[in-house]
Amino acid sequence: MTERLDIALPEALRTLGEFAFIDVETTGAKPLEDRVTEIAIIRVHGDGSLTRWQSLINPGVAIPAEIQALTGITNAMVRDAPSFFDVRDAVRQMLEGAVFVAHNARFDYGFIKNEFRRIAESFTADVLCTVRLSRKLYPDADGHGLDALIDRHKLHGFDRHRAMGDTEATVAFVGVAADDVGEDVVKAAVKSLLKTPSLPAQLPVDALKNIPDCSGVYLFYGVNDLPLYIGKAKHLRERIRAHFSSDHMTPNDIRLSQELTRIEWLPTAGEFSALLLEAQLVKERMPLHNVNLRRRDKLGFYRLPDDETNAPMQWLSAAEIGESHADLYGPFSDKSSAKKWLMFAAREHQLCDHALGFSKPRSDAEPCFARQVGRCYGACDGGETAAQHRARLRAALAHLAVPAWPFSGEAVFEERDVANDRCDVLVFDRWCAVSGGVRLPFDGDVYRLLKRTMGKTANKFREA
Ligand SMILES: [Zn+2]
Repeated sequence: MTERLDIALPEALRTLGEFAFIDVETTGAKPLEDRVTEIAIIRVHGDGSLTRWQSLINPGVAIPAEIQALTGITNAMVRDAPSFFDVRDAVRQMLEGAVFVAHNARFDYGFIKNEFRRIAESFTADVLCTVRLSRKLYPDADGHGLDALIDRHKLHGFDRHRAMGDTEATVAFVGVAADDVGEDVVKAAVKSLLKTPSLPAQLPVDALKNIPDCSGVYLFYGVNDLPLYIGKAKHLRERIRAHFSSDHMTPNDIRLSQELTRIEWLPTAGEFSALLLEAQLVKERMPLHNVNLRRRDKLGFYRLPDDETNAPMQWLSAAEIGESHADLYGPFSDKSSAKKWLMFAAREHQLCDHALGFSKPRSDAEPCFARQVGRCYGACDGGETAAQHRARLRAALAHLAVPAWPFSGEAVFEERDVANDRCDVLVFDRWCAVSGGVRLPFDGDVYRLLKRTMGKTANKFREA
């Protein structure tokens, strides 16, 4: 096999758009804390021509000795180099509108994104990772690090461990792979890694371009600007695009994309804020395609009546729940599944059919059916008192009880997204959201989200 120093990108691939191959050297491994010390970019244009750009970057902090030894970039070398701020326009020009390609792309993308964030600019791009490409094309190969690729594909001769040398080796790898397995195979692999979305024809071509990488809620609108669908995402960009990515489209996605006229997104600082916002917007706007909507409407709770008799349990929809959350059990997704659950619990705990309202006695002290077959302790015919039956019913329901509000008043939940410089502050009171100082009505979704999140991250809530 001959050595390959030719770094042309195969033509079949160039039909997918422009590509910017990039490699960055840094002061460490953490994109949020560490800084960039060198950037090299090779932009491959549609006609196959290349533009190269590279620069050492003054990181504004000392480079740790072990990192200097690893990359060969010393404090002395970057002392007179430009800062990221100085090169920001050049970097943006090299990357803008192109697929961001790097070996272990999450690393380079994270650093570039954060360097832009530090100077209060945002940056997003479609990302192609050549580690993943190698894995897809050569699933049986041992190792997919750059050194492994260089050895396996005889890509020697590049200036290794400096940003430009590594960038050249990465471009060369794609070229060699195309020679090896065929341009169309590489193209198909790149397409599937990029999840290239097929944009609905009625949307503007740049409709998916500026979606941020953060969590949030997105809204699809149809004719007359009526909401079709509302969803939440941990990664808005990825999630929205997945609706239009050919390998993942569900029948619902296909219907949606035919009716879609406009997309809107609302960034949040985290998943919890996104879930809450989604629940609220779905209820407010009633989008046509949110199939869970009807189910949410039917959600409800059981309440044990105040009197100490065997009065049956009351079924309450979320809207009917007022101030008091004592002896409240649920949520159940709807009344009939709640009843099924209760019948099952009744058998399990030998509760009384009459007392639970499953049947009515035709005369005083007539034993219920369960009593007649020995599966009721006898709340119906004096076998146990109403108070005893109620205590056992309470025990059977205990794990579904709405707990006492664990704060003396309002509680605050702060969600932070450091990478995107966002912080959402949410206020709650007695299992209800508080908005503009007003406690909103009890809501089954809010309750469920709050209870689950408190169980997992109680420390994120604090007394207001
Ligand atoms: Zn009974």
